[in-house]
Amino acid sequence: MRGYPSPDDAEREIDALAAEHPRLSRIEGIGRSSQGRPIRVLRIAARGEVRGRPRLLVTAQIHAVEFVGSFVARGVARRLLDGYGRENAITALLDRADVFVAPLLNPDGAVRVWRRRGWSRIGGARHTATGVDPNRNFPGVVIEGRRAWNAARARPGSAYYRGPRPLSEPECAALARLCARERFCAAVNFHSFGRVVFVPEALGADRGRADHVLDVFRGVFQSRQRRWRYRPVLDGAHKTFGQLDAFLLYGLGTPSVTVEVSRPGLSLALRPWRLANVFWWANPTRPDRDRDNDVDATVAALAELLARSGGTPCTPAHPQIVRDLEGP
Ligand SMILES: [Zn+2]
Repeated sequence: MRGYPSPDDAEREIDALAAEHPRLSRIEGIGRSSQGRPIRVLRIAARGEVRGRPRLLVTAQIHAVEFVGSFVARGVARRLLDGYGRENAITALLDRADVFVAPLLNPDGAVRVWRRRGWSRIGGARHTATGVDPNRNFPGVVIEGRRAWNAARARPGSAYYRGPRPLSEPECAALARLCARERFCAAVNFHSFGRVVFVPEALGADRGRADHVLDVFRGVFQSRQRRWRYRPVLDGAHKTFGQLDAFLLYGLGTPSVTVEVSRPGLSLALRPWRLANVFWWANPTRPDRDRDNDVDATVAALAELLARSGGTPCTPAHPQIVRDLEGP
């Protein structure tokens, strides 16, 4: 797929980036996919790995086909590493906090889509190797005063199938354990497409934390986007059940947003043979333009989210979730 590295080459890009900046970063394997591929996180810790430092999370490509999300996430990692010690804003951010970048959360799905050259049904464009939508597989959280709605589908075969049980997918379990351990101050999750930012609805005690996220994405994030500005949209709690955002916000107290990068453009109309291929709906012809549009805005948003969190690790609203993840 022209313009994009294969999943293997994208992983090698991360290897090269970590090798270029050994004092600032290292790669950590946090688990394996159901087909045995490693799930990896690039840990950017300019001040060394010190317990209790504020931490931020960037993830991408939890959905198989969303290569542009990973492209942008790798761009964020490169920008942070190359900018440290050279640019004041980046230096200030990394002096204050560590940033964890997980650019490929669904490697089995990405490889499947790549091998089929993007010819896939909607479900295949999202699923893990076992046919589960990994962004519906996170534990639902009982929200006080509300019924525990579940917008995810219980029927195998659905594009939004939630799986046989929460965290049945090893990819999701690995990420959930990481989140419980690191207590991120904020998280940005790249998806595609739509040029919108979904912010989960704030509820009860989470209201203050989630409201400031909307401010950040209406304000500093949009103002730093170079070409296209994404519209922030408040996502109802009933719609986000099982999603990473909802798990992070309602379960762990980490404000979390879904950034839907890009939009199918004129290039799709000019190449009508691509109209039937889901890859070219989810991924623009020129991902470098989307990366350049979003990278600085994301770095600025992370700095602002950090400032508004006061750098305090999140406080789980449901400590039981953390205990369950940490195990005996
Ligand atoms: Zn997605």
